[in-house]
Amino acid sequence: MLSKKFFIQTFGCQMNVYDSERIAQLLTARNYQKVDDPARADVILVNTCSVREKPEQKVYSALGRFQALKRKKPGLLIGVGGCVAQQEGKKLLERVPYVDFVLGTKELRRITEILDLRESSGYRLCATALGGRIDPYRDLPLFPISGRTTAFVSIMQGCDNFCSFCIVPFVRGREVSRASKDILEEIQSLTATGVQEVTLLGQNVNSYGNRAPGEINFAELLEAVQRVPGVERIRFTTSHPKDLSPRLIQSFGRLPKLCEHIHLPLQSGSNRILERMRRGYLREEYWEKVNSLRRACPEISITTDMIVGFPGEEERDFEESLEIIERIQFDDLFSFRYSDRPHTRASSLTGKIPEDLKQRRLTDLQSLQQKITAGKNRAWEGRVVEVLVEGPSKARTEEKTGRTRTNRIVNFPGDSIPPGSFVRVRVEKALAHSLRGELLSE
Ligand code: SF4
Repeated sequence: MLSKKFFIQTFGCQMNVYDSERIAQLLTARNYQKVDDPARADVILVNTCSVREKPEQKVYSALGRFQALKRKKPGLLIGVGGCVAQQEGKKLLERVPYVDFVLGTKELRRITEILDLRESSGYRLCATALGGRIDPYRDLPLFPISGRTTAFVSIMQGCDNFCSFCIVPFVRGREVSRASKDILEEIQSLTATGVQEVTLLGQNVNSYGNRAPGEINFAELLEAVQRVPGVERIRFTTSHPKDLSPRLIQSFGRLPKLCEHIHLPLQSGSNRILERMRRGYLREEYWEKVNSLRRACPEISITTDMIVGFPGEEERDFEESLEIIERIQFDDLFSFRYSDRPHTRASSLTGKIPEDLKQRRLTDLQSLQQKITAGKNRAWEGRVVEVLVEGPSKARTEEKTGRTRTNRIVNFPGDSIPPGSFVRVRVEKALAHSLRGELLSE
């Protein structure tokens, strides 16, 4: 019997990438075949992000494109997973009449059941139970894909912080940590297939284990992952500044496999706005944590997220953001214009900022950071770095690409170097978003 083919389009964060992979594993285990061309698929799943307005709009554009395929192939099933699915639920079936099923963020284990039901019953289906503090990956069979060097591993899901701008607690549910035993087993199964670098994922990894009686904490989990044979590099994301403990800070520089990079979202440099955002820290406390990280690990690369145009943000608040960016000198920064998200407190706050003003602030902030990033990257010129080779470079396929421990992309000529190799590269030139170098050893 010919196997059915599936195509998954993933929007959003690494958690969605991870979920798409787990769904792909479940489908492959049921004899579905993964394809890279949606025109060849019998099932298309769009795994969605609703963290901001723009990615949500992209989902509807993608669905529109897949509708054209369905006209040509009426048996094609189209599903929507992830955060937009969770947020919209049945409304999505009403709004988009050619969508066959909606799969919420905690229902991914039901993918094959939903497909069978859709075909046997003829009904369009919606599965979006959030179900309290339930680990959505519990007892899911593991079928790691071989041939990879790096992999994501979800260690927790959901969030209890309810920052006023954030939709995550509403679409990913309350914070739940996976059992450390399950996480370590998953990592062991990944290293058995050749994975050498794992990135531990969660909306706020720093609070891992806090709400799970008897479970180890995040710093202890890092120590346990460090002991897994075959793991050579450990990364994690995302961290909440208020939960960055002294023990976790000391892990940098103390755990040899823990890479020297932390993504620590600041969001605003103004205490007034941080309070309106309900972030739970002051700019001074954030600054102190950055100093502690740099004392523990002078080489550490620190990246952040910033929002501009939060309701009530005045010019002096924005200037405080610029001032702290200048002072901290982040290695890189992801910046966004604030947009209202359903259910959130910020959506009902007064003092909304006009779009043109948000855009002006975004441009100012980004041009400041571009200068800082360029200077930071230039400081690597002439230095020798360890690179874990991930595969051919996107721009020039005869070249290889990989990352430094500080999470910088490095491209270099090295045709014969297989993925998974650790090589030494001398950095020759710093570009805006990557480094170019020369291979020193194979
Ligand atoms: S800590 Fe992160 S995920 Fe949780 S509510 Fe705040 S921004 Fe959202």
